Amino acid sequence: MTITTRFAPSPTGYLHVGGARTALFSWLYARKHGGSFILRIEDTDLERSSQASVDAILQGMEWLGLDYDQGPYYQTQRFDRYHAIIGQLLEQGHAYYCTCSKDELEQLRAEQMANKEKPRYNGKCRHIGNHKPEQEAVVRFKNPQDGVVVIDDLVKGEIVVANKELDDLVIARSDGSPTYNLTVVVDDMDMQITHVIRGDDHINNTPRQMNILQALGASVPQYAHLPMILGADGARLSKRHGAVSVMQFRDDGYLPEALLNYLVRLGWSHGDQEVFSIAEMVQYFDLADVNGSASAFNMDKLLWLNHHYIMNSDPALVARHLAWHIAQLGIDPSTGPCLTEVVKIQRERCKTLVEMAAASEYFYKEFDGYEEKAAKKNFTVGSDEVLAQLHGQFSELSDWQSESLHQVIINLAESLGLSLGKVAQPLRVAVCGSGVSPAIDATLALLGREKTLARISRAVDVIRARA
Ligand code: GLU
Repeated sequence: MTITTRFAPSPTGYLHVGGARTALFSWLYARKHGGSFILRIEDTDLERSSQASVDAILQGMEWLGLDYDQGPYYQTQRFDRYHAIIGQLLEQGHAYYCTCSKDELEQLRAEQMANKEKPRYNGKCRHIGNHKPEQEAVVRFKNPQDGVVVIDDLVKGEIVVANKELDDLVIARSDGSPTYNLTVVVDDMDMQITHVIRGDDHINNTPRQMNILQALGASVPQYAHLPMILGADGARLSKRHGAVSVMQFRDDGYLPEALLNYLVRLGWSHGDQEVFSIAEMVQYFDLADVNGSASAFNMDKLLWLNHHYIMNSDPALVARHLAWHIAQLGIDPSTGPCLTEVVKIQRERCKTLVEMAAASEYFYKEFDGYEEKAAKKNFTVGSDEVLAQLHGQFSELSDWQSESLHQVIINLAESLGLSLGKVAQPLRVAVCGSGVSPAIDATLALLGREKTLARISRAVDVIRARA
C-alpha cells in the first residue's frame, strides 16, 4: 500500500497559513513514507472559485517548495464521474430522490427547534427511492439509522458519532450538481487516499463521508484533523492579525524555509528542537506528535527564525530570494556587486529580505541626499579635509581589498590624531548616505573603487558648499 495524502484547497482566496500548514503536514507525511502527495483543487463552487485563486494557491505551493506527485486535479473536470457515482448510489438503494420543498424543510426545522430537537431531515422521501420524480428533486444519501461511526483520528483520538445524529445529506442538488461531501468522497476513493490530513473544521463531515465510502464499498482512509491556528489574542487567525497569505510573507521578506520551519512547529513538536531543515522535518515528522489543541501564531518567533535562516543558509540561496526584492525596488543587480557578497556582509543586521534590500540600495543606485541627522553630525568643518585625504590615498591603492582599505583608514586616523569614528563616520555618510552600514572597509570593497571615489568627491563638494 502506497501512503497517499492530498491537499484539497477550495480556490476561494489566496493560500493562507492554515492551508499551508495542512499542505505541509500532508506533504511531510507522504515524503516520510516514500508515498505520494496529491494536489486537488476543489473548485465545484463556481460562484466562489476563481482562476486567480487557483493561481495564487499554485504560486504559494511553488514558493514553499511543496511539490506534488499527482495533480493538480480539478473537481470541475470530474463531473461525469460524480454523476456516475450518484447514479450508482441511487441504483443500489443507498440514495433516494427527495422532493421536499424549501418551505417544507424550513417548517420541519422550525418545529424541531421548537421541540428542542436537533434539526435534521426526517427521511420523509425515503420511499421514493430511485424513481426519478417529475418535479424538482435533490438526491439524498440514505444514512444508516442505527449504530455508530468511529473515527480513529490520528490526532484527536477516537471520536464516536451515533448515526441517528447524522442527516440524510444531500449529495446532488436539483440541477444534478454534486455537493461537497460527495465529491470529496469520490475523489478520496478514486485517488486511493490512505490518509486524509485536514483542518478540524471538517470533523463534522467525516462520519458522513465515512458512511458514503462504506456504501460504495470503498476502503476508509485514516483521518488526521489538525487543530486551528489562532492569532496572538486567541481568536481564529485572520487578516487583522497581520499577514496570513503565504505570498504576503514573501513580500514581507521571509524565506520559504523560515516559514516552513515556523509552520511545522505550529502544532507539531519533536522534543524541544526549534530549528529543522527540510530533511529533518521529513525524518522526524509523525502525526502522533501533532498536538490536538489549537496553537497561536507568533510573529516574533517567525521573525527570529527568518533571521536564523538568513544568517545560516547558503548565501547564494539567500541571494536568489534577495534578487526578487532588489527587483521590486527597481534596481538592476548588474549595476553593482554580486548579491551573494551583499548577503554575506548584510545578513547579520537584517532580519528580513525587505530590510536587506533597502539597506543595500546604495550599492546599486546613487542616493539623492544624505540622511539629515547623520550629515549634520559628521559633515563638520574639517571633515572635508579628512575625506579629501582618504580620496587621495584610496586613489593610489594598487588593490581594492578590505584589508588595504582598512589600513588606509586607521593610518589616516592615527596620523591626524583622530578617533577611528571621526574618519570612518564621515566616510560612511559620504558613500552610503547614512550613518549605518556594515563594516566600512567591507562596504567599500564591495562598492568598488569608482563609486567610492566619486561619492567621496561629491561629499567634499557638498561640505565645502555648505561651509
Ligand atoms: N476543500 C476543503 C477546504 O478547502 C478541504 C476538503 C478536505 O480536505 O477534505 O476546506
